[in-house]
Formats: sequence, structure tokens, C-alpha cells
Amino acid sequence: MIYLNTSTSIAIDYCPVDSLVNKGILVVEDSRVQRKAVVDWLTRYGINTIFEADDGQKALALVEAMEVPPAVIILDLELPHVDGIEVLQALALRNVRPAIIVASSVDEVLIGSVAAMIQALKFPLLGAFQKPCEPASLVDALRRLENPPAKNIKHMPQELDLRPEHLRSAIVNNEISTVYQPKLDLRSGKMAGAEALARWRLKDRQNIPPNVFIPLAEKVGLINDLTLKILDRALADMVEWREQGIEVPVAINLSAKCLSDPNLANDIIQRVRERDVSPHLLTFEITESALVVDLAEALANTSRLRLKGFAFSIDDYGTGFSSMQQLTRFPFNELKIDRSFVHGSISREHLRSILQSAIDMGSRLGITTVAEGVETQQELQLLKTMGCHHVQGYLISRPLAADLLLQWGKAKLQMHAEICNSD
Ligand code: C2E
Ligand code: CA
Ligand code: CA
Repeated sequence: MIYLNTSTSIAIDYCPVDSLVNKGILVVEDSRVQRKAVVDWLTRYGINTIFEADDGQKALALVEAMEVPPAVIILDLELPHVDGIEVLQALALRNVRPAIIVASSVDEVLIGSVAAMIQALKFPLLGAFQKPCEPASLVDALRRLENPPAKNIKHMPQELDLRPEHLRSAIVNNEISTVYQPKLDLRSGKMAGAEALARWRLKDRQNIPPNVFIPLAEKVGLINDLTLKILDRALADMVEWREQGIEVPVAINLSAKCLSDPNLANDIIQRVRERDVSPHLLTFEITESALVVDLAEALANTSRLRLKGFAFSIDDYGTGFSSMQQLTRFPFNELKIDRSFVHGSISREHLRSILQSAIDMGSRLGITTVAEGVETQQELQLLKTMGCHHVQGYLISRPLAADLLLQWGKAKLQMHAEICNSD
């Protein structure tokens, strides 16, 4: 049942969007008392088209009978006859996908799994709460109807027919550029370095996201050429920064596929020597998008590069193939914790435990821990309390063009030093 904590008497400023007023909302809740509490609360905010169901079967029958489905369903999970999960599966089968708010008293790990299932079924998810559900949380969830959350996975513009030869010519003609996202050292408040991120802008100014062209480069055998171009660009920028008096450590993303190339270590060492850059200033972030094809070659490349003084980071730690097993195989100096653990950690205790364990493990291994995707001050404070070494994310800075990085460093570092020193 949905339990609405109506004891909060503070009036919340909220004006529902037109689609909500017109199409209405369906409240699926088996307790009459609790259903009424939610309905009363919705009515107070001017939502008058409210449908009610006290079990999953009736909810499905109601939606079936409607000409236009409701804009939102507030759904309890534990329901008689047909449970909340079955309701969602049945709706997806019928290709009916209203926005969903889950409010349930099951444990938060289970709520998290159901939330992931809802997204996998391609429903817009406005919120998933454990009861008691505060009116303020419901308002926040309903507000997401106005501003749907930005999608992390960027897709290629549909009309674009991207061919391998386009990518090859973009690499050869230096049309792939590099931006740098700074990392902040939480102890010193100083810039800990910057990550080089590839950007591809077509002549008509259309941006192709890296999530599109990196997998393509991997698939058609262009990833090595692309990586070496990014390295060349980064080395040139590092020389430029050095001339301006600042040595900036740079992290380069290295697809696991590159590690199978027998020439990789030599190609890197040669370029770094030519530019007279210290290997200690370079870290390679290994993104495990694919299984390492040739383990012996990959270990030879990483070990040789480590011997020369380069560092390695395990990127997106906690997801996909970035597992503990990889930590035992490769000579990593850094653990870069995936942003999915950072985002949910404020509100979800089990994510907070996973985050803390990853930071503790990094410390025990004597390697640097970096948290990515830090977007709020609360997340930053939490990571600081947990003992994380470095943070990266939109709160600190968006990725910047090379000439803006040093300016950013000078303008913002004082501010960040204050953030780091405050408790
Ligand atoms: P990544 O290595 O995990 O890089 C971080 C991504 O998260 C970047 O997306 C960055 O712009 C984004 N990001 C940074 N801070 C935040 C934040 O606070 N919130 C959120 N939601 N996102 C944040 P980008 O530049 O689109 O790159 C996507 C992925 O493409 C990278 O993920 C990396 O795996 C790959 N990639 C980018 N450049 C290269 C490259 O030169 N070589 C290889 N092999 N892969 C690259
Ligand atoms: Ca990375
Ligand atoms: Ca990452």
C-alpha cells in the first residue's frame, strides 16, 4: 500500500502540467485509507482527473477501457491478484507506457531493481520511493514530467548515415578534437589532472557523441589510430601548458581492444619521448567495453608501460567487465568509480555501502580512488567524508577546451579549496 506522510503541513508550491490535468493520473493502491490520502492530496493541487484501482487486475482493466491512457500511474508493488510488476509487464506488452511513480514498502534494493526494470521496459520513470512517501518527493517526481531527466546514453542523430570511411577521414584530417575535464584533489583542493575526451563535430556543426563513434572505431579497426591521435593532441597541449608554467597530469581513455596491439607500448613510448613529456604525467583509463582478446599481449603492454612510469586506471569501476578480477590481473594505480554509484548514494543506503567499500578497497590496495559524475555539493561532501581522493563531474567542471583549462584552474581553485576545507 502507498503510505503518504501527510503530517507535513508545509504548503508546497506546485502547478501540474497540462498533460497531467487533461489525461489524469491513476492511483493503484489496495488500502482505501491510503488511496484516499493520495487522491485528496492530488486534488488539492488541481488534479481532478484521478482514477483509482485497488488491485492490479482492475488497474489493467481500467487502462484498457480508456481512450487515452493516464499521464501518470502511481503504483504500489504489493497488490492482491496481479502485483505491480505484472501490471508493468502487461502494459509494456500492450505498448502503453505512461510515466510511473513507484511507492512501496518493500526494501530499497528491491525498489532499485524494479526501477531498473521499469527503465529497461522503456517507461518514463518519475520516481521510486520507499514509504512513507513525503508529499515533497511526490511533487519532485511529478515535476519531472515537465523536465524529463537527461538521457545518459546519447544516440546518433537518426538521419545520419555514419560510415567507417567518414570516421577514417575525420581521424586522418584531424577533425576529432579533444576536450579536458578536470579532476579535483579533495585533500589539497587543487586540480589533480584532467581527462582527455574525444569530440567529433561534423562540418554542419552536428556533434557525433563518443558513445557512437568510439564503438564504431572499435568495430572497424580504427580505435588504435584514433587513440594515438588523441594522445598526440594531449601531448601537444601538455607541452603548451608547460610553456605557460603548469604541468597538468592527463588521463587518456584506452579501449581494452587497443591492448591487444603488439605495437601499442612502443607507439606510446616513442611519442612521449619525442615531446619530452614525463610518463608520470600520463594515466591510461582502461574502458572494458569488450573482453580483452589477447590477454598475454595486454599484460605485456600494460606491464611495459608501467615499468616506464605510466599509470593505469580501471574506468567505470563496478560496471560491466570492470570487476575485481581485473584488479588482480592488471597493474592498476587508480580505481575510477562509475558515476551510477555516486548518483544514487545520497538517497540509497545500499549504493552508499558499495561506494564506501570501493573507496576502502582502493585505500587498502594503496591506489588512488576517483569518483566520477559528481553533480551536487551533497555528493562531494559525502565522498570527502568517505575518504575518496579525487572527484570529477559537472559540479567541478564540464569538459573544457585546452586553452580554457588553465583559466579554469586559476579562477576556480580558490573556490574549490574552500569547498574541500568546509565540513
Ligand atoms: P568516460 O570515460 O566514463 O567519460 C566520462 C563521461 O561522462 C564523459 O562523457 C563526460 O562528459 C561525462 N560526464 C562527466 N561528468 C559528468 C557528470 O557529472 N554527470 C554526467 N551525467 N556525465 C558526466 P563523453 O565525453 O560523452 O564520453 C563518453 C564515453 O566515451 C567516455 O566515458 C569514454 O568511455 C568514451 N570516450 C571518450 N573519449 C574517448 C577516447 O578518446 N578514447 C576512448 N577509447 N574512449 C573515449
Ligand atoms: Ca574515462
Ligand atoms: Ca568512466
